[in-house]
Amino acid sequence: KALAELVAGHVVDVPDFPQPGILFKDITPLFGDGPAFRQAIDAIVDHHGRDSFDVVAGVEARGFLMAGAIGYATGAGVLPVRKAGKLPREVHAASYALEYGEATLEVHIDALKPGQRVLVVDDVLATGGTAEATLSLVEQAGGMVAGFSVLIELAFLHGRDRLAPREVHALLTV
Ligand code: 5GP
Repeated sequence: KALAELVAGHVVDVPDFPQPGILFKDITPLFGDGPAFRQAIDAIVDHHGRDSFDVVAGVEARGFLMAGAIGYATGAGVLPVRKAGKLPREVHAASYALEYGEATLEVHIDALKPGQRVLVVDDVLATGGTAEATLSLVEQAGGMVAGFSVLIELAFLHGRDRLAPREVHALLTV
């Protein structure tokens, strides 16, 4: 469909980045094309509906770009989900395995109000480890995940299975 083609037309496949054997989806061309970026952001908001979430969580660093745009467009708050050691106050932490390597994500312990509904966004869903860690952080902080949204889902890695039964929406599935 049109949105999938829009995303597909603004992605560059990069072989062997950041490691041999990984085919990296570079989505910076989508961010760099103003009308295309706006269309993608609007499609995400339209899909979930403005009233389905209170806060939008973006995963460092490409998720920040999406979350900032969605937060501004909807008036929702933005929750930056940061890599270990970046936040200045007490944090909740969740460790996870990437498609390549391992990492820890953090949010401030008071980042959410009890029961706040959080839309989690990122550029790519691969193994789902990042998204699952973000789910853990949202729940540790007392919130609930309203849904997950990504630009691209790498379906062959079955990341969405780790997030079931929560909704996972992708503009492009490959
Ligand atoms: P996962 O934890 O689902 O295996 O990996 C997803 C995370 O790694 C996301 O934060 C995403 O930004 C990054 N990532 C993994 N593979 C790719 C890729 O091919 N392209 C981009 N742009 N990011 C990726």
